[in-house]
Amino acid sequence: MSDDIFSKIAQGEIEVPLVDSNEYAVAFADINPQAPVHLLVIPKKKFLNVTELAADSTYMQAVMSLAVSAASKAGLTNGYRLVFNTGQDGGQTVPYVHCHVLGGRSLTWPPG
Ligand code: 5GP
Repeated sequence: MSDDIFSKIAQGEIEVPLVDSNEYAVAFADINPQAPVHLLVIPKKKFLNVTELAADSTYMQAVMSLAVSAASKAGLTNGYRLVFNTGQDGGQTVPYVHCHVLGGRSLTWPPG
């Protein structure tokens, strides 16, 4: 058992409304949304970052397919963005891998 917040959400120790889930991952709303739809998709098993996640094809596939499914369930029919902030320069603040699903407005590029 781990005491960080994403571990508790992943294990169901903290109940948050789930937008979507599958056997290996859950999707829920970001607490500080940066777009009209801002979801986080996390694996039920802890990986620190996308580098670790990418080495596990089962969990990587589950996170990616859930991100696509959650975007659809959230009604993002006009497009969306998937983001893994990774490491210090990537702007990662939570050391538990998470895929941001952003949409509901026209997103600019490049990001800040
Ligand atoms: P990062 O900066 O690591 O890519 O993204 C971390 C994200 O987690 C941020 O968008 C932040 O708002 C979100 N976040 C941090 N703590 C919580 C929490 O307790 N609950 C939820 N739902 N989101 C959180």
